[in-house]
Amino acid sequence: MLTAEHITKKYGKKEALHDLSFVLQDGTVNVLLGPNGAGKSTMMKSIIGLLKYEGSIELDGISTKENEVRRKLGYIPELPALYPNLTVREHMEFIARVYNLKNYKDRMNSLLDRFEMTSQEKKFGDELSKGMQQKLNLCLGLLPDPDFILLDEPMIGLDPHAIKELKNLILELKAQGKTILISTHIIDSIESLWDRTIILAHGEIKADVTREESGERKLEDVFFAVTEEQA
Ligand code: ADP
Repeated sequence: MLTAEHITKKYGKKEALHDLSFVLQDGTVNVLLGPNGAGKSTMMKSIIGLLKYEGSIELDGISTKENEVRRKLGYIPELPALYPNLTVREHMEFIARVYNLKNYKDRMNSLLDRFEMTSQEKKFGDELSKGMQQKLNLCLGLLPDPDFILLDEPMIGLDPHAIKELKNLILELKAQGKTILISTHIIDSIESLWDRTIILAHGEIKADVTREESGERKLEDVFFAVTEEQA
């Protein structure tokens, strides 16, 4: 279980997050939904300990700033940071070494295969199309088999096949008891996936709903009901 309590983040004088508190249960797909600039990336980066903030974020009662917890977190950023001189396979092997992974080869091959990257294995980082970079980014983030997976705008730039594979994979990870947090501003992309959605605007939580609580309503209707109410 991930517990965020009273998170406030300021960049200089600009307050990007204001007193956010929420709880994410194990084995669920959670969404941070909100327009550009709402504070989604800032929240994700705070969870993984990349930013300083006020408040506390704990996974099963231990701060996510602690190394033992950080190892359980897998963050897949919106923009891939690849090495121009490493091939696709070398990128994967590099991550395996950094995380000291044993017996990772089957998992590596299955991830590459799933995202149709096997035929691209020998290509260098700077030879990959944007979509392929995005797919490699996903494979790299998932290789260490993290318990808590953070995906920042994961569908952007992916082709329909990769989107379908990613959605299937997210549901498989959930079935394995992993917790997933997706940040996005595209409601359609997560309509079939979400268990809990936290709607953010101007650095504040405007709604925190589970699929059960939303009843028959589509997420889009929940979103517009909340944002129009605010307006
Ligand atoms: P989102 O991911 O929802 O688009 P962000 O978390 O990137 O939102 O940004 C939230 C707010 O914080 C925005 O107003 C943005 O301009 C500001 N912000 C984000 N990163 C920085 C930074 N490094 N320095 C100053 N302001 C920032």
